[in-house]
Amino acid sequence: PNQHLDVTSFISSQPHRGKTAFVDAVTGRRLGFSELWLGVERVASCLYALGVRKGNVVIIISPNSILFPIVSLSVMSLGAVITTANPINTPGEISNQIEDSRPVLAFTTRQLNRVASSGEGARAKISRVKQRVNQDDTAALLYSSGTTGKSKGVMLTHRNLIALVQAYRARFGLEQRTVCTIPMCHIFSFGGFATSLIALGWTIVVLPRFEMAQLLSAVEIHRPSHLSLVPPMLVAMVNGAEEINSKYDLSSLQTVVVGGAPLSREVTEKFVERYSNVRVLQGYGLTETAAIVASMFTKEETERYGSSGLLAPSVEGKIVDPDTGRVLGVGRTGELWLRSPTVMKGYFKNEEATASTIDLEGWLKTGDLCYIDCEGFVFVVDRLKELIKCNGYQVAPAELEALLLAHPEIADAAVIPIPDMKAGQYPMAYILRTAGSNLSESEIMGFVAKQVSPYKRIRKVTFLASIPKNPSGKILRRELVKLTTSKL
Ligand code: ATP
Repeated sequence: PNQHLDVTSFISSQPHRGKTAFVDAVTGRRLGFSELWLGVERVASCLYALGVRKGNVVIIISPNSILFPIVSLSVMSLGAVITTANPINTPGEISNQIEDSRPVLAFTTRQLNRVASSGEGARAKISRVKQRVNQDDTAALLYSSGTTGKSKGVMLTHRNLIALVQAYRARFGLEQRTVCTIPMCHIFSFGGFATSLIALGWTIVVLPRFEMAQLLSAVEIHRPSHLSLVPPMLVAMVNGAEEINSKYDLSSLQTVVVGGAPLSREVTEKFVERYSNVRVLQGYGLTETAAIVASMFTKEETERYGSSGLLAPSVEGKIVDPDTGRVLGVGRTGELWLRSPTVMKGYFKNEEATASTIDLEGWLKTGDLCYIDCEGFVFVVDRLKELIKCNGYQVAPAELEALLLAHPEIADAAVIPIPDMKAGQYPMAYILRTAGSNLSESEIMGFVAKQVSPYKRIRKVTFLASIPKNPSGKILRRELVKLTTSKL
C-alpha cells in the first residue's frame, strides 16, 4: 500500500455497507458500518477542533464498548497516537502510563458516550487539513502486560497494523459473527476486534468485561460462529461444562481462538471432548508483534494439540540458543526470534530496551522458549524469565502446570520457584481443587513424580481458592512468589 496510507483509511476502504458492525450485548444497541464510519469522522473532526494533531497522544481508559473502536480509529486517522489503559488497573498504574505517554486528551466512559452519540462532533466539523501520515509513524502505543517486569510502551506503526489486517485477511473469512469479551486495551483484542475484524466486515457483539454467564447468554442470543478467549476462560468452560451444556445453547459455535498464555494439550483435549462441535485454534503473539504471529487454521492444524500453530506467511522465525546466539535446528528448544512486518518500531522512550530486543537485522527476541517441529508447528515451552533453576537444571513451570491440569480433580494450577539452600530453587504448586475434592498434597506430589524426572518433582503444594491471572490470561507468578515468601 502507498506510503501515506493510514490504517483507518485502509480499514475503511472496504465499507461493508448495510451490515452491522457492533452490537452492545447489554443494551442491544446496534452500530451499522455506515454509522461506524460516520462516528469516526465526527470524533476525528471534534478532536481536530480541540487541537489534536499528528503525533499527539490520546488515551482511552474504558471497559469494552462499541464506541471504543470509533475513538481509536478516529485518533489514528488524524495521524495521532492512541494509547489504551486498562480500567481495572490501579490509579497508580494508570498515572504511570499517563506520565510515560503524556497524552493531550483522555477519553473515558461518560465522555465516550457524549462525544460519539450527541452529534457534538458534527457541530464541531470544521475544514480539516489532512496531515500526511507516513506508514512508519506510530499509530498505537500499547503497553505490554507487565507480567515479567514493568509494563513497556510498544510503538506500533500504521504499517504494522495494516500488515496485521492483511494477516487476518489471509487466515479468516469475511463477515462472520463473534463476541468480544477480552479487554480491547490489550493487543489481542485491539488488533482483532478494534481493527482487523472491522476490515473483514465481521459483526462483533461487545461485552463490557468477561463474565461467564453473560458470555454464554450472548452466545445463545446472538449465535456467533466464533469466539476469542484467553486460556483461563477456556479452563472455566471445561470445569463447568456439564452445567453449561445443560443451561445454554452453544450450537452456533464452530471455532474458538485462544491465545495470550500457554494452553496445554490436556486442557484442549478436555475442551473438545466436552464441546464436540467446536475447534480450538491456538494463536501466539506478543504486544511487540501486534499480536498473532503464529496460529492454527485448518482442521489438520487444529489437531496439533499443545502447539501454537504455524507462523503466518509473512513471518520468519528461528530458534536461537540464548547463551551462545547459535541458530538451532528442527525440534531443538531455544529462544524464538521473529522477523515480520508487524514487529514494533520500538519501545517508547526506551532505546536501550529496543536495542536489546530487536537486533540490527530486524530480528525480535521474544523471550519465549520454543521449538519448531519438522512441519513448522511452533510449540511454546515457557518464558525464559520464568524458568525454575533447580540443581543446575531448568524446569518449565508451564510443563508442570499442564501435567497438573490433566488430573481430574485439579481445576487450576500454578507452579512457582521456591528458594532452597541446596538446590537453589525448586518447584512448588498452588492448586485449586474441583468442587468437593479432598485431593491431598502428597497425592498431588505423587501424581507428578510418577511422570517426570526427579529434578522436576514438586516439593510443596498449597491450596488456593483462585489462581491470580492478568487480563491476557497469564498467571501472576510475582504475586504468588510474594505470598510464598511472606509465609516462609
Ligand atoms: P511483559 O513483557 O511486560 O512482561 P507480557 O509479555 O506478558 O508482558 P504480552 O505482550 O501481553 O505481555 O504477552 C506476550 C507473551 O504472552 C508472549 O511472549 C508469550 O510468553 C505469551 N503467549 C502469548 N500467546 C501464547 C501462546 N499461545 N502460548 C504460550 N504463551 C503465549
